[in-house]
Amino acid sequence: MKITLLGTGAALIDPDRAHTSIAVQIAEKTYLLDIGTGATRHMIGANIDPLSVEALFLTHLHFDHIADLPVFVIGSWMSGKTGSPIIYGPEGTEAMVAHLFEGGAFDVDIRARAKYKQRQGNLEVLKPDVRPISPGTIFEDDRVKVTAMSVDHIPPDICECYGLKLESDGKTVVFSSDTKALPEMVEFAQNADLLIHEATFPEAAIEYRAKNGIGTFSHTSPRELGRIARDAGVKSLIATHIGHWDSTNPIVRKLAAQHMPVEIMGPQLIDQVITDIREAYTGPLQIARDLLTISV
Ligand SMILES: [Zn+2]
Ligand SMILES: [Zn+2]
Repeated sequence: MKITLLGTGAALIDPDRAHTSIAVQIAEKTYLLDIGTGATRHMIGANIDPLSVEALFLTHLHFDHIADLPVFVIGSWMSGKTGSPIIYGPEGTEAMVAHLFEGGAFDVDIRARAKYKQRQGNLEVLKPDVRPISPGTIFEDDRVKVTAMSVDHIPPDICECYGLKLESDGKTVVFSSDTKALPEMVEFAQNADLLIHEATFPEAAIEYRAKNGIGTFSHTSPRELGRIARDAGVKSLIATHIGHWDSTNPIVRKLAAQHMPVEIMGPQLIDQVITDIREAYTGPLQIARDLLTISV
């Protein structure tokens, strides 16, 4: 499996980090985990053909994990893709997709483009085949098996959220999605060759958010992540969904200031986060950045 991180930021708009998306390439096919803004553009930049995408898995319906979906689908239609895109997602995915294309948000665009003969032969691309995710094995073909586990991020009556495990050719990659630290993740990611786990806020931001009454329940701290990675015995770890605390952009820093003291923000905080993860986990470790590629 060749893994490319197409987006590694949290929910703010950040010039240095696109929203969450991970491309997993196996032989000539690609499996996409989430599709936040910038994903399709970064795929092409990374020389990953969007037409090679075999299936897309949406871990939850926060916009920073799904907002590039119309770009991907309409772009695929214009590129001559045939067949309905296959999209796995939590309950609510079908309704979200139903509001996007013909008769939905992009109806005018589609009616305008469909006037041209060369756009009329593959209109099925605009009708994705949406399939529900529930815990357990959700997908299996001759290259990969995908298993989902429930994680704890948004109240489930609003949206279920799932972590995903991909197994291919004896190798295992686990993606946490957005979640608080869960003991169940230790079992789910046990002995994984690669764990890609969120570490949205550094410890200092978590303290700041707690003191200022901003919720801290829905994400994992670097110290907690270190313990999960150690206890799961993962062979390598990438911390992702970076909450913009390393940004040097003045607008991003201003927006992030409600989550942490702005004077501690900056690239130097990466060293502190690594130190916090290393309190428990001593294996190979990287802090995610867009277009980071790793083969397992
Ligand atoms: Zn997110
Ligand atoms: Zn989220």
